[in-house]
Amino acid sequence: MATDLSPQLDRLIAGYRRFRGTAWANNRARWTELREGQQPEVLVIACSDSRVDPAQIFDVDPGEVFVVRNVAAMVPPFETAPGYHGVSAALEFAVQVLKVKEIVVMGHGKCGGCRAALTRELHGTEPGEGGFIADWISMLDAVREPIAARYGTTGREAERAMELAGVRVSLANLRSFPCIRRGERDGSLKLRGAFFAISDGLLHLMDDATGEFAPVG
Ligand SMILES: [Zn+2]
Repeated sequence: MATDLSPQLDRLIAGYRRFRGTAWANNRARWTELREGQQPEVLVIACSDSRVDPAQIFDVDPGEVFVVRNVAAMVPPFETAPGYHGVSAALEFAVQVLKVKEIVVMGHGKCGGCRAALTRELHGTEPGEGGFIADWISMLDAVREPIAARYGTTGREAERAMELAGVRVSLANLRSFPCIRRGERDGSLKLRGAFFAISDGLLHLMDDATGEFAPVG
């Protein structure tokens, strides 16, 4: 082992060696298949939070889910203003090229992004000093008002309400993309809201009709 690795990278490399020796070695045929390309049927949009890895939570193999992760699992609305639209590019690729059949937006408990949207603690900060986050989570401003009025801006009740509202906002914004609306209309694409409660490890699914979340049995 090279001596110039940080303890953090050293730990990653040790993990890689385990992976290479077991998971990879045991699935050689699958990896050979994947060399030809990927055909995931599901797009998962999740938070960057280190505790909510979709591949781990859904126990899927490489090649099965196309994943976008960002602060608070947000999907921005369809916008054509100049800029680097990373989420929109990933969505476009998943829907138009990979032709995924299902899009799952997965929020989670104790989400720092959702909490900051509630408290507005980063409001007014400079880009690079918190301003990028503040700007990103301003997508939640519209749902913040009724939540703050009902539960205040701190505490788990308010936070959970914001975490669930965030999923609904992302679903609504997904539907602002013409290709997604079209897919839903012709039945080739389904959208689903989900929520992973870190404290008890329970996955909740959103009822499309009511917007309410219930644990998966
Ligand atoms: Zn989060």
